[in-house]
Amino acid sequence: MAEVIRAFSWRIHRNMSLSCGDTRDSLKSRKNFLESFRIDYRHLVCAKQAHGSNVKYVGQQEKGSGALDYDSAIPDTDAFITDKPGIPLAVFTADCLPVFLYDPKNPAIGLVHAGWRSTRQEITAKTIEEMIREFKTDPEDLYVDFGPSIRCCCYEVEKKFEEYFPLGLKQRDDKYYLDLVEVNKKQAQEKGVRQERMLDLGLCTSCRGNDFYSFRKEGKDCARLMSVMMLK
Ligand SMILES: [Zn+2]
Repeated sequence: MAEVIRAFSWRIHRNMSLSCGDTRDSLKSRKNFLESFRIDYRHLVCAKQAHGSNVKYVGQQEKGSGALDYDSAIPDTDAFITDKPGIPLAVFTADCLPVFLYDPKNPAIGLVHAGWRSTRQEITAKTIEEMIREFKTDPEDLYVDFGPSIRCCCYEVEKKFEEYFPLGLKQRDDKYYLDLVEVNKKQAQEKGVRQERMLDLGLCTSCRGNDFYSFRKEGKDCARLMSVMMLK
């Protein structure tokens, strides 16, 4: 079985973004956080995340894109896939959901930035489709992990979301709450991922403001946590 690194940073690791929040110490913070996984922060592959559903295959050529400055990040992308070892993929979130996909059989990984817009555009389903196409991944072999995000305990949305999400909307006291994990889980399940291979840590970025960043709570100057994934 191939080995993989899957991790996300916490507030204690500080801001990981080069485009949001106070970015002055972000490179140093990335370096410190990634050192514990023996990942060179200069190799990181980052995107200009766009709340869309573009999935990008990355290889040696993309290694280091967006690692040292935001300008060199890969444009208009919200999910990465690779079958190349030693290429650390990263997504940045504060409430949005990071989704980690791992195929141990044909060693390959995918990392997704799933906010509501990308979720509505079925980004997790599309990433799995790309893994099937590029790596001949059998969805039954896939492990899918869900990182920290705002949860339906806190994620109040407008009523019109009923049209966008036939599933995943909860109603409490005339208010509507979205369960991002449920919708993305469903997409994975419909692509053939086994229920017992999906793991949700259940961490709410809004409830746990001491541990994570929450865009909803902190507003436009909010920092970002980083999810990172790499085949060893
Ligand atoms: Zn919550």
